[in-house]
Amino acid sequence: MDLHEYQGKEILASFGVRIQRGILAHSSKEAVDAAKKLTEETGTGWHVIKAQVHAGGRGKGGGVKLAKNLKEVEEIAGNIIGMDLVTPQTSAEGKRVHQVLVCEDVYYPGDSETSEFYMSVLLNRGTGKNMIMYSTEGGMDIETVAENTPHLIFTEEIDPATGILGFQARKIAFNLGLSGMAFKEMTKFVASLYKAYVESDSSMFEINPVLKTSDDKIMAVDAKVSIDDNSLYRRKQYAEMRDLREENPIEVEASALGLNYVDLDGNVGCMVNGAGLAMATMDLIKMAGGEPANFLDVGGTADAKRVEEAFRIILKDKGVKAILVNIFGGIVRCDRVANGIVEAYKNMGDAMNVPIIVRLQGTNAVIAKEIIDNSGLAVHSAVQFQEAADKVKEVLA
Ligand code: GDP
Ligand code: MN
Repeated sequence: MDLHEYQGKEILASFGVRIQRGILAHSSKEAVDAAKKLTEETGTGWHVIKAQVHAGGRGKGGGVKLAKNLKEVEEIAGNIIGMDLVTPQTSAEGKRVHQVLVCEDVYYPGDSETSEFYMSVLLNRGTGKNMIMYSTEGGMDIETVAENTPHLIFTEEIDPATGILGFQARKIAFNLGLSGMAFKEMTKFVASLYKAYVESDSSMFEINPVLKTSDDKIMAVDAKVSIDDNSLYRRKQYAEMRDLREENPIEVEASALGLNYVDLDGNVGCMVNGAGLAMATMDLIKMAGGEPANFLDVGGTADAKRVEEAFRIILKDKGVKAILVNIFGGIVRCDRVANGIVEAYKNMGDAMNVPIIVRLQGTNAVIAKEIIDNSGLAVHSAVQFQEAADKVKEVLA
């Protein structure tokens, strides 16, 4: 689950990570009040107004702006709230901005002593360890840094059993070229950042930029935080941070139905039971010259109601030109699934407007194929994996 910058910063601060302070605002009036309050608390004269949407690259898209007085705070907040922010990470339509974070300006005027770093914490699945990736080249696109100057990106692997060790935090501060007070600050920053990552059950932190101020403080100016969905049952306070407005509406609906659905860009919808078979089915579609339009694991119960719900979800994606149903009937018998498909298809009437290829394997597969073939519906049945792939190719042609 992705979070907004302001929520990510809240979590970081709760673990003692220093952050650029800010107050959330939903209107230009609230923004002005927030700016006044920040001035009282921090003495800042200038403010940075930051659009809160689930997308990076906001600065490039005009979603992060510096305001030098309250009139500018009001104007800029007014312009950003309600805009459809387009960044390199959004679609061409952009993302509607509902709220802004009014922040203290931490790049003090005329300041040349600041440096921006990049830092992320994530799991290295290859080694089964956490890792901190960091770079002296902060504030810009890390993909570009990786492309042009890969030697400027460092990684530090951390054994989850020991946690981060003192020498590792010092190595990071050293590689970032720090000394004195800033060096010490960075070791503290890294240690508390790692603790926050582990104890919040996050799957990713990306802090870009991490700032060294001219008075040698180290702080998170941005925060991209993803919490592991599987931990939300025990992290209620984070689960409440979910902002459904930011998520794919079809995925939100599918999730409410208990369907494991991920929207993709292709043209062949998939309905499969079991995540492994779903992955194999997506490969199959690609090999047949199609592109999967989604990942969908319907789970154990493939009855008529469930199949119909899944069909309706798949068809909400207007790019779908065919649907491949690939179900293994072990405990759930294939004939029951076949009847479910026929019933769901009939219930849907005109809403079912693309060809369907059905492959059922397992218990009573032969009976199931007969049910499909004798249904009189425009459903193609297949027995072998390859046969299903060929039929997909056929209907797409
Ligand atoms: P992103 O573009 O979505 O990654 O948003 P960021 O939070 O990283 O902000 C974009 C850029 O705005 C940063 O890289 C900074 O250069 C700049 N920025 C952020 N905070 C301040 C600030 O307090 N003062 C000034 N002058 N610039 C800031
Ligand atoms: Mn950033």
